[in-house]
Amino acid sequence: MNWLNKYKEKHPARRCIFCGGNKVSREHLWSDWMAELFPEYADPNRVETYIVRNDKLFKNIKSETLDRPGLTFTKSIRAVCAPCNNGWMNTIEQAARPVLTPMFNSESLTLTEAMRDALATWCAMKFMVAEHMRRDHHTTPEDVRRQFMNTKVAPDFFRIWALRCGDGGWESGFSRNTAVVSLANKLPDGLSVRNTQSITWGVGDVLFYHTATLIPNLHFGISPAVDGLSVQLWPRIPDDIAWPVGRRLHWREGMALAESIKDSMRAPWE
Ligand SMILES: [Zn+2]
Repeated sequence: MNWLNKYKEKHPARRCIFCGGNKVSREHLWSDWMAELFPEYADPNRVETYIVRNDKLFKNIKSETLDRPGLTFTKSIRAVCAPCNNGWMNTIEQAARPVLTPMFNSESLTLTEAMRDALATWCAMKFMVAEHMRRDHHTTPEDVRRQFMNTKVAPDFFRIWALRCGDGGWESGFSRNTAVVSLANKLPDGLSVRNTQSITWGVGDVLFYHTATLIPNLHFGISPAVDGLSVQLWPRIPDDIAWPVGRRLHWREGMALAESIKDSMRAPWE
């Protein structure tokens, strides 16, 4: 086997995480129209957060932290093909844009169920892409991604909230925790899928928080410390909700929220 075949075996061609197509291109986590809204963040000296942490077992936490300083809106991810990106994904983007824009501009508005659905679908799409910032560290299974592409409805095991962040680093911060969780004391042999994650993503004034676990009947909620400052986008809740809710988060509260899933993960079996 020559070096090229060896390389190809070690690094199989990327396939689109949604349709399986092989014309995968680089995409930014931040959409172009969003970057235009926040020109003041274009300072290359600004320190932002990008963290992926992987815990194998919560009783015995082994953390691997990857800090990559840099603006999250300049980060690009190879995960999606151009036909998906320019087609159904762009439709989701355009549906969410009229809701996101006033939120990014600190305007008050009433979030109807349909508006929250548009936000939740957009967030779910972004999170599924963001899971692929690192290869083989994703949580959402392929069949769920395929179903999402077909239905444009966020998976029912997703939890998504929106909050407001204050100054100090979350305006384009991104943090993801992934883990292999088992309700048993020991991880079953062969269980290596990162079945649980939380994502905290700051976009200008708005901080999105997300949890998901593939373990049936288990959910990770939002930290009680900031529950009253959040709007639940997904799963659906009835009634119109006035945005914004309460005060802005201090950046330290954002950091605490980003790490909070680790505390709740220990709770059920200790
Ligand atoms: Zn595709």
